[in-house]
Amino acid sequence: MSDYAMSMADASALASQRDDLAKMSVKLRTCGNYLLFRDYYTVGKVRLHAASFCKKHLLCPLCAIRRGAKMVKAYMDRLLVIQAANPSLKAYLVTLTVKDGPDLGERFQHLYRAVQKLHKTRSGARQHSEACKAAAAVWSYEFKRGKNSGDWHPHVHAVWLCDDAPDAVQLSGEWQRITGDSFIVDVTPFHDQDDVVSGFLEVFKYAVKFSDLPLVDNWDGYQTLAGKRLVASFGLFRGVVVPTDLADEPLDDLPYVDMLYRFIYGAGYSLLGIESGEARTWRETAPAPVDKPVLRQVAACANRHMKAWQRA
Ligand SMILES: [Zn+2]
Repeated sequence: MSDYAMSMADASALASQRDDLAKMSVKLRTCGNYLLFRDYYTVGKVRLHAASFCKKHLLCPLCAIRRGAKMVKAYMDRLLVIQAANPSLKAYLVTLTVKDGPDLGERFQHLYRAVQKLHKTRSGARQHSEACKAAAAVWSYEFKRGKNSGDWHPHVHAVWLCDDAPDAVQLSGEWQRITGDSFIVDVTPFHDQDDVVSGFLEVFKYAVKFSDLPLVDNWDGYQTLAGKRLVASFGLFRGVVVPTDLADEPLDDLPYVDMLYRFIYGAGYSLLGIESGEARTWRETAPAPVDKPVLRQVAACANRHMKAWQRA
């Protein structure tokens, strides 16, 4: 993808666009090149404390998978709170699709509006749909190429929490009336309600699948969908805060050792330095350039935490 972005930069006639594309290419190429792991050795736990992420989750599988994991964690935490207060709510995986089409932007708008209409029946006077049974929902938009048509195949994966099971036949009819072009829906109850995490993985994996597309499709998809809200929620799932930081959450008040790894093309990752509470300077374990801005950024983060720890 980095090479593809660079080839787009080379082909661009506009100087400003060329610069942006070249920057994007470098960002993608260097994503994950520096990883700072924190070893909380007294409890045997290692956390990814900081890293050089590109944060282009529609183009980068590493950032997509980290972001997906953050979302699963945030919504699982909320689910535990919801289910403790409402033990009768059960989780269902609901999939809604619209007809395949050649224009991704147009298909996205169509699907987006149809989903809004369906959800609006929850509050509209004299309106009803199967969505009224959901006390909470979180959903995401996913795009791939249709198996037979080769056109864009947009769909929505959702987790609904309901007292009464949503009726797939009813929902299909309602969906047909709203979309005008599709009756294809799916409702799957989670037989093991404790294993809702698999449903959340289905909902939040969209970006990972995105990266399975051919580069040109992935790139076009990014151009069309960047900045759009592809994950949303209603009801009891409203207001879940997903951390934007893609690193792990640190463990508080425990001693640790920091380990900085650097990736080199052709050689893989190597340990660049170790810093512990006793030896408070970076100890180079291999000769490496230390003037890279990103290394400074990662090291600065580690030093900030180190200073806070020293003050404490
Ligand atoms: Zn990335």
